[in-house]
Amino acid sequence: MLFYTTNRWNVYVYFHKKMTNPSLMQLKIRNLSKTYANGVQALDDVSLDINKGMFGLLGPNGAGKSTLMRTIATLQEPDSGSIQLGDIDVLQQKHELRKTLGYLPQEFGVYPRVNPVELLTHMAILKGISNKSERQELIEALLNRTNLWDHRKKAISSFSGGMKQRFGIAQALLGNPQLIIVDEPTAGLDPGERNRFYNLLSEIGENVVVILSTHIVEDVKELCERMAIINQGKLLFTGAPTDAIHDLTGKIWEKRVEKSQMEDYYNNYRVISATLMAGKPMIHIYSETNPGEGFQAVEADLEDVFFSYVL
Ligand code: ADP
Ligand code: MG
Repeated sequence: MLFYTTNRWNVYVYFHKKMTNPSLMQLKIRNLSKTYANGVQALDDVSLDINKGMFGLLGPNGAGKSTLMRTIATLQEPDSGSIQLGDIDVLQQKHELRKTLGYLPQEFGVYPRVNPVELLTHMAILKGISNKSERQELIEALLNRTNLWDHRKKAISSFSGGMKQRFGIAQALLGNPQLIIVDEPTAGLDPGERNRFYNLLSEIGENVVVILSTHIVEDVKELCERMAIINQGKLLFTGAPTDAIHDLTGKIWEKRVEKSQMEDYYNNYRVISATLMAGKPMIHIYSETNPGEGFQAVEADLEDVFFSYVL
C-alpha cells in the first residue's frame, strides 16, 4: 500500500516537473506602494526579486506582509508599481497568474463540515481539472503527501490546527502552481505540528517559488535560503539569513542585569532583546564598538538580526 501511494505521488511529481516552465520561475516586484483609505501606508516602494525555492518574508504584525501577499495573489490592487512572474504581467494578466498560483491565506475562513476529498474535488473542478480519474488520482496523491489520507472521511471542521494547515497546502497545490504563497502558516501550531509542516513545505520548495510570510524568526531559520525583512511597509533587508547574521558579527553584546536597571539600559543602549533567564533579564544590545560595562560579545543569531532591523 505504501509503495502504491508513494508511486502515485511520483507520477504527480513527474507530470508536475514535466510541465514546469523554467521561464516562469522568477518573481520580480518593482516599486510597489499601497496606502489604505484610512491613511495607513502598508507598502512603501517595495522592490524584490524572488527565485525558485523557499523565500521567507519576515516582519512583525502590521508590517505589510499580508498586503504584499494579497497583491501578488491579485486579490487587491497596489497604488503603483509592477509585478512580473516570468512572462506574466501579474497586475494586467490576473487570470494567467491565478492559473499558476497556489495560495494559503492567513485567514482561511470558516472550515466547512465536508471532508477533504469532497472539498478538494469541488476546488479541482473550479480549477478546471475536469477528468474524473485524473482528479481522483491527484486528490489521493495530495492527501497522501500532506498526511491526511487516513482522515479523508472526517469533516475538515473537526481537524486540528496542524491538519487544517496541511489541508490548506493540499488545496494550494491543486493544478500545478509555479508560485505558492503561504501567509503565516505556522501561527497557532504546536511544536510537533510545526515540524511536520516545515518538512512538507521544504519539499515543495524544491520545484517552485514559495513565499512564506511569518513573524516567527524560527520559521525562516529552519526553512528559507533567502529572506526579506519588512516593517511599516518598507523592505529593510533582502538576502540570505546567513549573510544577515554575518553582518552583525562583533556588534551584538549581552549582559545579565537586574530588573530594576532595565529602564537605564533602555535609555543608554540600543537594547534589541531582553529575555528572562531564571527570573533575571538577559539583554542583547547592538553596538559597533565594545560597550564595556561588563557586556560580553555574543554570536549573533537570526533573532538579533530581526530585532536589529525592526526596532
Ligand atoms: P501584516 O500581514 O504584516 O500583519 P498587513 O498587511 O495585514 O500586515 O497590514 C499592514 C497595515 O495595513 C496595518 O497597519 C494594517 O492595520 C493596515 N491594513 C491592512 N488591511 C487594511 C485595510 N483593508 N484597510 C485599512 N488598513 C488596513
Ligand atoms: Mg498578515
